[in-house]
Amino acid sequence: MSEIPILRLRTLNNNAIASQGQYVLYWMTAFRRPAYNFALQRAVEWAEKLQKPLLILEALRSDYPYASDRMHCFILQGMADNAEHFSTTVAHYYPFVETERESGKGLLQKLAETACLVVTDDHPGFFYPQMLQPAAEKISVPLEAVDSNGLLPLRAADHDYPTAYAFRRFLQKELPGHLFNFPLADPLRTVKLPRLETVAAGIKKTWPAAGPELLKAEQKALARLPIDHSVTSTCKRGGFKEAEHYLRRFFEERLPFYPQRSEPDQQVSSELSPYLHFGHISTHQIVQHLFAQENWSIGHLSPETRGKRSGWWGLSDAAESFLDELVTWREVGFNAALFLPDYNQFDSLPGWARESLAKHRDDPRIYIYSLEQLEQAQTHDPLWNAAQNQLLQEGRMQNYLRMLWGKKILEWSPDPETALEMMLVLNDKYALDGRDPNSISGIFWCLGRYDRAWGPERPIFGKTRYMTSENTARKFSVKKYLQQYTNRQGEFSF
Ligand SMILES: Cc1cc2nc3c(=O)[nH]c(=O)nc-3n(C[C@H](O)[C@H](O)[C@H](O)COP(=O)(O)OP(=O)(O)OC[C@H]3O[C@@H](n4cnc5c(N)ncnc54)[C@H](O)[C@@H]3O)c2cc1C
Repeated sequence: MSEIPILRLRTLNNNAIASQGQYVLYWMTAFRRPAYNFALQRAVEWAEKLQKPLLILEALRSDYPYASDRMHCFILQGMADNAEHFSTTVAHYYPFVETERESGKGLLQKLAETACLVVTDDHPGFFYPQMLQPAAEKISVPLEAVDSNGLLPLRAADHDYPTAYAFRRFLQKELPGHLFNFPLADPLRTVKLPRLETVAAGIKKTWPAAGPELLKAEQKALARLPIDHSVTSTCKRGGFKEAEHYLRRFFEERLPFYPQRSEPDQQVSSELSPYLHFGHISTHQIVQHLFAQENWSIGHLSPETRGKRSGWWGLSDAAESFLDELVTWREVGFNAALFLPDYNQFDSLPGWARESLAKHRDDPRIYIYSLEQLEQAQTHDPLWNAAQNQLLQEGRMQNYLRMLWGKKILEWSPDPETALEMMLVLNDKYALDGRDPNSISGIFWCLGRYDRAWGPERPIFGKTRYMTSENTARKFSVKKYLQQYTNRQGEFSF
């Protein structure tokens, strides 16, 4: 039946399909979009095969780590887009939002009782892996998990990679076979299915669907939810429609300037990471757009597969460097989440980095800041404070400064383990794209992952790469950035 690569499918229990079931249930958790979504496509295929209606449950818990107005608002806006979109299709969309802690408990189980089978999203990070197996054991129909994370199916690899170079080499050998198999742009467009008009009254009563007011994510509605209200929503709107707007803007206006993306005063990167993180857009859709814009075909690929950073795709330099971030760097993080044991624990750092950081553990520190001081951007370093202010206000941070930000936290912490802890808290609490496999790879990169040993060996940093705000300000233009994100004027001079 399937157009979907077998490597992307996993069945999580041995239950038989309930052919008398009323519908196929798609439990949307990580890929919160109607387009280019292998999991949705798989659920549609099952519904067609069984000639049953398709029910889509998109649920939002209130107890996930760092649940706040900021994250909820972005997700709810995405749910509003989905509600509108699915109302024009044959699928029945059921948005559920916990208004009290754990009020969603039992909903999946109850909906599964009258389903033929359940299809869901297979994501290797955050709380998803811990959520799926218990769910599979609680229901009496099959639970099928589908990987729609990136261009390469996660299980096309069978181990983790110590460097981006090693992963890139693997990608260059493995990826061509997967470039023919993209998910459908709109899996519901032409299907003919019976409709499900409503879900059972008892379910609607116990777990009422989120109404338009809640999905609009207005302040009043957010205030009633049991989440952290101190992390406020940003002006960035969530949802697949806004993601498509960012996608078009990037390709129409920014791509040629992408090689200058390290300049804090120029905003030329795509800003797509929150949309990728919440599943509002997929790598496949972005890449498809790029291929069309650059008139690319498979014949453009270079036969050389030695892991070189540019030249393999046969695209413009700007497009090649964008794809290196979007595919190599993004997907090596997903690969680690699946294959590197304890990938989010300090001990998973490479041996050379752990040894070197341990050797310099007791080096004297000129500055040591508490989590609260860092959180409130109260350090002596104006560029660092500006970057932290951007994170607080906008839920994002310019990419080059994000590296500097992490490196300085290492320098200003009592020890590297505390540095790691503080980076994770600040990033995951405030960044819209936080709590992602790439949060882990970016933060662990600051401590040596995917990097090599550097000389000369320095205090505190040891052999891990050393960065300073002074050098950053010399190398790049930061004036506008400082003006925009500095609270106290006139304090910056190098
Ligand atoms: C300390 C630190 C923390 C980070 N935390 C996160 C995080 O929480 N979530 C997150 O998605 N990324 C994180 N990154 C990686 C990177 O900073 C962001 O992905 C990027 O800045 C997002 O901006 P953009 O969408 O404009 O990227 P673009 O430059 O337009 O790139 C397109 C996409 O490629 C991917 N990408 C780009 N750069 C990287 C990278 N270095 N590593 C992995 N993937 C990349 C992202 O999905 C991004 O959206 C972190 C990096 C560091 C150094």
